[in-house]
Amino acid sequence: MMRVHTCLHLLSAVIEYPVTGGQVNDGKGRLDFAIPESNLDKHEITAKLNELIAGNHVVDQDWITDAELATQPDLVKTMSVKPPSGAGRVRLIRIAGQDLQPCGGTHVANTSEIGPVTVTKIESKGRQNRRVAIELNDI
Ligand SMILES: [Zn+2]
Repeated sequence: MMRVHTCLHLLSAVIEYPVTGGQVNDGKGRLDFAIPESNLDKHEITAKLNELIAGNHVVDQDWITDAELATQPDLVKTMSVKPPSGAGRVRLIRIAGQDLQPCGGTHVANTSEIGPVTVTKIESKGRQNRRVAIELNDI
């Protein structure tokens, strides 16, 4: 679950559109993106994801205050899920040089732990919604 979840962070870095939803299952997961026109290529996204995974990027965390987050709304990629806040501070998950976003989930410590993945499906779910599914190759 940690590997798929961390991979979805990378997917949101590869596909630079707002995330409208997502799901993680055993060995696979998916994100929905708000994309007006769809020209997503499974093979291209698979290649970019695997390049990032193999890039050995460290995954670590940082904290900012609710007030700091409020001044940097671009950090929040998932429109439908508010980041955990209210305690005065918010945890950010950083994938070195690739991605930074608020998240309360559990992650691997290095992208290489994810192992090779494949984008298995890209579906249209509504006029502006594209669902991108990934799967770990060793599951
Ligand atoms: Zn996360």
